[in-house]
Parts: sequence; C-alpha cells; structure tokens
Amino acid sequence: MAASLVFRLHDRGPELVREVLLERGWEEYDKGERGEEDWNLYWRGSPFCNSQYRNLLPWQRLNHHPKTVGITRKDCLARNLKRMKAAFGSALYDFSPTTFILPSEYTRFLAEYNRLRMARGTSAYWIVKPVDLSKGKGIFIFEDIKDLVYDCAVVIQRYISNPLLISSYKFDLRIYVCVKSFRPLTVYIHQEGLVRFATEKYHLSSLHNLYSHLTNTSINKFGPFYKTEKGQVGKGCKWTMSKFRHFLQSQDIKELLLWQRINNIVTLTLLTIAASVPSSPNCVELLGFDILIDAKFKPWLLEVNYSPALTLDCQADVSVKKKLVGDLIDLMNYTSTDGLRDRAYQKCGYKQPFKANHPSAPVLSKLNHQKKRKGNKDSETQTLPLLKAPCQPAKMNKRQFKQCDFVANYQRRLPSVDFAEIHEARCRIFNTSAVKTHTDQKRNLIPGPDSRTNESALNRQSLPPLASRLMDNESLYVSDVTNHDNSETEAERERSGETDVSSSILDTQERGQGVRRGSQRPARIAVERTRGNGQHVPPVRVGDFIRTFPFNVATLKASQHKLDITTVLQEIHRLTARLISGQSDKMKSRGEEEVMADMDADNDFDSLLWGPKDPPLISQCFKST
Ligand code: ADP
Repeated sequence: MAASLVFRLHDRGPELVREVLLERGWEEYDKGERGEEDWNLYWRGSPFCNSQYRNLLPWQRLNHHPKTVGITRKDCLARNLKRMKAAFGSALYDFSPTTFILPSEYTRFLAEYNRLRMARGTSAYWIVKPVDLSKGKGIFIFEDIKDLVYDCAVVIQRYISNPLLISSYKFDLRIYVCVKSFRPLTVYIHQEGLVRFATEKYHLSSLHNLYSHLTNTSINKFGPFYKTEKGQVGKGCKWTMSKFRHFLQSQDIKELLLWQRINNIVTLTLLTIAASVPSSPNCVELLGFDILIDAKFKPWLLEVNYSPALTLDCQADVSVKKKLVGDLIDLMNYTSTDGLRDRAYQKCGYKQPFKANHPSAPVLSKLNHQKKRKGNKDSETQTLPLLKAPCQPAKMNKRQFKQCDFVANYQRRLPSVDFAEIHEARCRIFNTSAVKTHTDQKRNLIPGPDSRTNESALNRQSLPPLASRLMDNESLYVSDVTNHDNSETEAERERSGETDVSSSILDTQERGQGVRRGSQRPARIAVERTRGNGQHVPPVRVGDFIRTFPFNVATLKASQHKLDITTVLQEIHRLTARLISGQSDKMKSRGEEEVMADMDADNDFDSLLWGPKDPPLISQCFKST
C-alpha cells in the first residue's frame, strides 16, 4: 500500500491547516519519526530560503513561490506598480492610490502635497504605513504636513477619504488569491472572502481614531464597540463575501463591473512580478488582496498580504477559511496517497517511509504522542533508538537523496507538476492520442475502493444546467495528478487504492457535506486538460476557487511561453470595456470579431467571471450584457 500524505508545519502552525489536512487523512511530519525528506507539503508563514527551493524533491510542495516580496512588501509593491504605469500607461494601472516611499521620495511627496493644496484649495488626506509591518501597526493618517513624523522606512499614500460606507461604517474586502503558477501565470480567486469593518462610525474630523479609519481585525477586535450591535453591520467586525453580495443585491447595485475591476486588479498586480518569479512548479501561493471600494464604486488596492491570517476569530472566519484551505489543498491536486515518495525510498534500498499507523509501530507512535502532550522536551531524542527498528525507515539526508538514482533520474525525466509533460507521458502510457473524446475519458475511470465515481454520478443528476455544461467541458480528459509517477500503470494504481479521477466541478457539489475526522478522503483532483493544439488548460474551477487567469484563448496563448504583457493588457481592457458598454452582440471592431471567432473555433476554452453569486461564463456575459 502506498504511503500516506505527510504535511510539515513550520512553528506548529497554522492550526487550521493542520485540522483540514488531518481530517483528510494526512499525517503530520515528525522529525523524530520520519526521514528528512519524507513529506509532501511544507507550510510556513515566512519565506523559504533558496536552498529549500533548489533541493525540492519531486513529491514535495511548498506553500510559497520564491520572490513574491515584489508585491507583498508595501514599498516594493509601490515601486512595481509605478514601473508598470510608466511602461504601459495609467489607463489600467489606476487602482492604487498615489504612493511615495519615504525617506527616499520625500521631495516628490512634498511637490505633490503642495500641488494638491494649491489645486484643491483644501488639503488632501494622507496615510502613513511602515513598509514591512502589518495588522495596522504603526499606521497614522494626517492632513497637515506638520503631523508627518516617522522614524523608519514608510510608504505615504493618498488616503481614500470617500469610502463606500455601510450604516456609516468603513469596510474593506479581503480577497483570497491562489497563484498556482507564475510560469505560465495561472491564477484562481476564491468566491468567498471577508468584509472587514471599522467598529466606529466614519468621520474625517477624527483622523486619530483608528477604530473609525482602519478596518484591521487585529485592531478592531480590541475596540470598545466590537461586541455592540452596529446598524446593518451587526456585532463584531466581519461579514462573509456572500453576505456582502446579498447586501449589494438588496441595494440594487450592479455588481458585475465591480467584480471584474477587482479581478483586473489581481491580474494586473500579479503581472508586475510574473516574469521575474523563477519557475517553481512545486509551489503555490495564497495571497490576501485588500481592496477598498470608494463611494463611486471604484475599487482600490491597499496592499497584498503574504500568508494571510488563517486564525478563526469569529463565525465568518470559520465559514470562509476552512473551506478556503480545503479548496487550496484540492487545487494542489494531490492523490489520496503517495506512491512516488514511497517508491523513491524503496528504490534507494529503504523500506517504506515510516507511517505512524504502520501495523508494527503503533506503540511507538502512541508513546511519542503522549510524551509530546505532556510537553516532554526530550521526546524527539527518545524516539531515535526506536527508529532503528527494522521495519522503520532509516532517516535519509538530502545528500543521500540526491545520490539516489531514482530521484536523480526522476528529476531529469519529469518535472512533477509540468502538466503538459505529464499529459504526454500519460498518453504514451495509455497509448492514446493527445486528443481524447469524452467517451475515451470515461473508459479511464478507475472505480477503486475510494472512488467517487458513483457519488459523482449522483451529483451529476442534480447539477444546474451551467454546471453540467462546465462539467462536460472540464472533464474531457483524465486528470493528471501531480504526485503521480507517470511510469505507474493503471493496474498498479488500482491495487494501491488510489483514485485519480474526479472533476473539480464535482468538488463544488460536495460543499456542505460532512467530512469524517481521520477518514482517508478520496482524492479530489482538479482536472487539467490539453487543448487540441497541445495547449495546456488549467481547470476552470476547483471548489470555490475560480480560474481568473488565463481567462480566454488569447491570454492563454500570451502566457504559455514568454509572457506577452501587452496582449494580456489588451484583452483585459477589451473585456472590461465590453462589460462597461454592455454591448455584446454587436461587434465593435474587426479585432473583436476575430477574438469572438477565435473563441467559437476554440469553444473548449471558457472561463467563469469571478465575483457574482452564480458566476456566469465570460462568453455568456458577452452574449447577454
Ligand atoms: P496593514 O498591512 O498594516 O494592514 P494596510 O495597507 O492594509 O496595512 O492598511 C491598514 C488599513 O488602513 C486598511 O485595512 C484600511 O482600512 C486602511 N487604509 C490603508 N490604506 C488606505 C488608503 N489609502 N485609504 C484609505 N484607507 C486605507
């Protein structure tokens, strides 16, 4: 039987990730019990070092891409957005409030401050934020330059002084974005998110009152009115995005354009660093985009959070974040067990990676557990002698792994998450052509013991028309599983009980279904496919994660090899312009006709418009707006 999946948490957190993975039958990495490389997912709140990226083994994943600091540090973000504005104009890059980095740009700030004072007759408002702090630490707002005092590197930003208010309370949106890959750029935005409220009414006369001007939960949960019932806002300081959508609908607000603009902000921000992030196919990144909407319904980017908080402070957190983490794991496309890691150990002359529930080791794992609970600091050393028991794996260090032929060959042969290559390999193995029919694909379904095929069939019957249409689109091909060694045959997999076929759309149907603690969950795999021309297409949706980039044939083409930013910007502009003008059936220009013709010709590619409650297909928006 193949080994269980193993996760590793830095500094024992976040607890929510542990909870979700344990519920899915994963095991937690324990230094004393496992080899150094005997894990599948390493999750940490802070960045990994270069050597950790370099030494990644084929079955291992990290929860950060390298070099994303270009958007997650306030000064870097400001610099990068400025650079893009200079290169591509401000027509699209107009979503970030004017920002200066101090002290280096003090003179420029002063010029702008004076210009605005003269032009407006009244002064503008400014917000000052330390460049590398978060949670509202060190932030203040001022109107008069005499109040500008700072003793560390800060950004100084135009304060959006006319925010959209709900019952006179300021709020911002926390949008969860998963960058599955920077090369090619592949972006998902989660349908759920959080709305974070200030807990005192908004007044420009009280700039020093942080409970009125900042929407950070870390600040507001200590405010005097946190637990008070506050107009429509209610108690606490958070809503789910669903509740916000409901609110927008109750106010008869046309949401589509708002969501698309937020969607654009995410893509345009990621484009600023996409070309400079080294290719790292075994990594994913969850980012928190903070968006403020002003009274004219224009969304503004405030900042991008690295490792957004996964703590559960209130009911809204519970309902949003648990699903979010679950969907993120699904997006990583793991099978329920890991045959690859297992075989690597075996081919190196070791027995299977140690499993805590291995029949010959229950006493050991129990003992260790008890010791840890008692806070026994020596528990790690005390497990070591037991590790020498013959049925347990010797610990392998990185060098030994590097020397191991299997790994070296594997790494040369097949980058583990290069889906295009995996697809080809699978086609070779299954002796099928690259283009498959729906019927062909169904033949490859493997109804193993954990298979969800029957459940899937049931789900299919209750699907709404759009979902079923997508399902047909998205389940054209057998899923390619990142942790698979593609030299494995179907029969082998069947024996090991792995299930590797399920549709991402089906995953969305699972929402709300209970998950048994400790049960070995069936694999929930995002279906990847390859278009007739060999282009690799990431799934349109995984759980509540909606693919927002690439969003059409042109952006798919423009991002597959060398990123063609100009084309991407043109496409974003075109899509947004269409939504604004509401003109869809009538083609405005030959260029648009060509794009639509292209879409028709390649109608196996479509995307959902992220944002609305029941996200429509982008092609449908063109037809009906
Ligand atoms: P931090 O990383 O400390 O949370 P943010 O940039 O997110 O820093 O700012 C904290 C809060 O301050 C935001 O959630 C928002 O409520 C408010 N804020 C930040 N920048 C602006 C701005 N330019 N205009 C209006 N409010 C802002």
